[in-house]
Amino acid sequence: MKYQTVIGLEIHAELLTHSKVFCSCSAEFGGEENIRVCPRCSGMPGSLPLFNRGAAELAVKAGLALNCKINNFSAFDRKNYFYPDLPKAYQITQFNHPICSDGYVDIGTKKIRINRIHIEEDAGKLIHDEKRKISLADYNRCGIPLIEIVTEPDIRSAEEAKAFTAEVALALKYAGVCDAKMEQGSLRCDVNISIMPESSKVFGTRTEIKNLNSLRSIGRAIEYEFSRQKKLLESGERVIQQTLHWNDATGVTTALRSKEEAHDYRYFPEPDIPPMFITDEEINTISKAMPEMPSARKARYLSLGLSDADASLLIADKALSDFFDLAVKSYQNPKSVASMIIVEFLRHINDSGFSVEEIALPPADLAQLCKMADEGTVSRSAAKDILKQMLKTLEDPMEIAKKENMLMSNDTSAVEKTADEILAANPKAVEEYRGGSAKVFGFLMGQMCRTLGKSANPAIIKKILEEKLNS
Ligand code: ADP
Ligand code: MG
Ligand code: ZN
Repeated sequence: MKYQTVIGLEIHAELLTHSKVFCSCSAEFGGEENIRVCPRCSGMPGSLPLFNRGAAELAVKAGLALNCKINNFSAFDRKNYFYPDLPKAYQITQFNHPICSDGYVDIGTKKIRINRIHIEEDAGKLIHDEKRKISLADYNRCGIPLIEIVTEPDIRSAEEAKAFTAEVALALKYAGVCDAKMEQGSLRCDVNISIMPESSKVFGTRTEIKNLNSLRSIGRAIEYEFSRQKKLLESGERVIQQTLHWNDATGVTTALRSKEEAHDYRYFPEPDIPPMFITDEEINTISKAMPEMPSARKARYLSLGLSDADASLLIADKALSDFFDLAVKSYQNPKSVASMIIVEFLRHINDSGFSVEEIALPPADLAQLCKMADEGTVSRSAAKDILKQMLKTLEDPMEIAKKENMLMSNDTSAVEKTADEILAANPKAVEEYRGGSAKVFGFLMGQMCRTLGKSANPAIIKKILEEKLNS
């Protein structure tokens, strides 16, 4: 029988606030363990949470970026469970009254509906030391503000799940809500998946694969889980509703807990934080201050004369797209700048394995190089060499061109002198040319270029050579 996959995603995204959501600890990533912890985020008895309003503003931005309704009233609840990464033994989240609801993301082929977005706090991190057979707790991440984005079960394939996640990550990055670095865990995805006969309208029993941290593992986990569930059904067994862990190394899912032993979270309204009211005026103010989103940016690029493919390629990487915008600010030739970025710059970036941010090339320098090539200050091929050098040393393109003697000379006297010498040394070729054989021109051009080197402007050489031959 043919089966259809049904998927709903729960995406956790860390908000880019400076401090944590219920205390004033820094919300930075990385560094030494347990250095950003205080009585509040480590759950000391008697400490009270203090809500960081900045997190609400970012959650509203996320809602606007994902076409959601922003709720004027929302409230926090306690979700009780004991686990060593959660020192309070409960997580503050929004259960009954989320901050945003009813959104959607257009993935090109269809719209995926978003059921809700709610705010919650992140838990700490356990580090398992296999050798010493102990687990260590790092609470730096405790209390980092998260939003959880929950979709309707509208997704039907691994491709759609990946496209949705990529689209959400891009929208959150553009909105300045989350850096969406999946490899660092600032955006993580839980996949709910079930299968049903293709003709069926009734969803099957679902499993939930927790904490996938790359698009690739989302795709692989879905493909694996689809075949596992299909095998079960075909052999007359049933799928058990359970939570699964994906092992990227072995490529299989394993059970974490089943529905029978599922948690009873005993949700109740968080008594230490008052409900949150957001007025329409406040929502309007945030909405007006929303940065340019990917679709608007693409439209702007098309109006600058870029091709659809080039515009899509640039917006897919916000840092690259920002780089392009800054470069165009200092040299207003968008097509030329785009071509230099896409044809040359991107190739080097891909080869190097670094990101645009890590490479740290000043956009104005690339713009200057573009201008130098367009104006014939250096040849196109020299421009490529100069870019390579710039990426290594971050030197100014003009400095490199001077140092490497790549500036095309506009001083015609050297060219004239060389032309005279070369024509004098090749009387036979000159005679043939004047007798009507245009072929030898290439030979003479070659002699000129070889003698004058990279610094000579081929257009000027050609002009002077022609003048001399035809005089
Ligand atoms: P819970 O409260 O148990 O987490 P939800 O109704 O909130 O359940 O659903 C969680 C996620 O699972 C949502 O993204 C939803 O779209 C998805 N989902 C629900 N039912 C199914 C199903 N039968 N197959 C696949 N995904 C499902
Ligand atoms: Mg859930
Ligand atoms: Zn703290």
